[in-house]
Amino acid sequence: MKPPPVSAATTASLYRREIARFNDSHPESLRQHRLANAHFLYGVPLHWMRDWPSPSPLFLRHAQGSRLQCVDGLDYDDFCLGDTGAMFGHAPPAVADALNLRTGYTAMLPSALTASIGDKLARLFGLPMWQLATTASDANRFVIRWARAITGRNKILVFDGCYHGTVDDTLVDHQDGRTVARASLLGQAADLTQHTVSIPFNDLAALEAALASNDIALVLTEPALTNCGMVLPQPGFLEGLRAATKARGTLLAFDETHTLSTAWGGYTRACGIQPDWLVAGKAIAGGVPCAVYGFSAEVAQRMRDAKAKAAPGHSGIGTTLAGGELAMQALAASLEHVNTPAAYEHAISVAQGLAQGLEEIVRGQGLPWCVTRLGARLELQFCPQPPQDAAAAAHAADDALAATLHLGLLNRGSLLTPFHNMMLAGPTTDHGQVARLLAHFADLLTELA
Ligand code: PMP
Repeated sequence: MKPPPVSAATTASLYRREIARFNDSHPESLRQHRLANAHFLYGVPLHWMRDWPSPSPLFLRHAQGSRLQCVDGLDYDDFCLGDTGAMFGHAPPAVADALNLRTGYTAMLPSALTASIGDKLARLFGLPMWQLATTASDANRFVIRWARAITGRNKILVFDGCYHGTVDDTLVDHQDGRTVARASLLGQAADLTQHTVSIPFNDLAALEAALASNDIALVLTEPALTNCGMVLPQPGFLEGLRAATKARGTLLAFDETHTLSTAWGGYTRACGIQPDWLVAGKAIAGGVPCAVYGFSAEVAQRMRDAKAKAAPGHSGIGTTLAGGELAMQALAASLEHVNTPAAYEHAISVAQGLAQGLEEIVRGQGLPWCVTRLGARLELQFCPQPPQDAAAAAHAADDALAATLHLGLLNRGSLLTPFHNMMLAGPTTDHGQVARLLAHFADLLTELA
């Protein structure tokens, strides 16, 4: 067997040095973490915040645009951007200025912003009808429920390696040709394989076989997978998916929460394939909690029909703060001033430069790694060619190496999302930040060589 291009022992030794470096330079983050441990599980308000590879997470002092400062007074170039929540930069001034916290910001009433937000969403994504949720997880959950209600079918189909938020129905994997519940789930009682089918992405034959039973209400997918590394659709795959779902009376939802990075209007506008639903969350309102789901006029009519037929009472769809005025103010400002073609033009040109720079460094070191890019978002993968499905992406993963690179970059002032080798450029990212990240990356690879 060929030895791995970077040895585990070299990686482990660099990791230990980087841990020591973090401990020396972050006394205040470490102290805040110890204090927070008294009342917060793992010392953080959300346990995911412990997934950073550092001995404690950075404790935040402030963040603006694509820059962030921790409580130790150290500055970072932020390529994590809140794992996409801050894709348009932290605290975009237009959104911050639009938030009016002096008047009621939740009343379970629509306001005069509603109609114009509808116009903007329709123009942006090409779907005429909309509803709001508070998180992308919720929006996906609601789309699944609507799809089951209007088709009268119970099953849904997702692709192996998917992530659509904390949505029970989607938390399955494809293993040895079968759908299985994700092994890492906590507190799972219901058998998720009863109503969900998981197949490999980019496999049209498997898709057609799964849809042939005519009992699948919905296919829910990102148009390109971004949560198992990055897996782009092969030419013709999305067209085939659209045709096969139409032929079988199965509805199709594109979850654009991450692929929004592709271009103005997301992957959907860029590829020209219209889903029945489109979901976007995280960054859609400039990072204020808000998600949207859009749908065709035909689907809207079927939703109305399904609701009219149901018994009065709880629908299982909606949460109290969804569509509240705080989210609406942020959404209106974001759609008008932040989520613009010019913002994408800049972010994508910066990401192109970053991808090119990473490729040159990797080639220079003779490493069999590749960079996959979706507009402003890119992923470094430890394999020579972009993977075509989640199994290939998982095969290429190296958690110890990824953690070492992340921690090394953090110690040098460049921040990446912990659970991915993902780098996201925003309209506020500049070429100087890219040059610094590339220099730090090259420095680390030299240490690993
Ligand atoms: N959809 C996709 C594609 C995601 O990547 C995520 C989160 N990473 C979600 C939905 C869920 O978003 P949230 O955690 O904000 O509900």
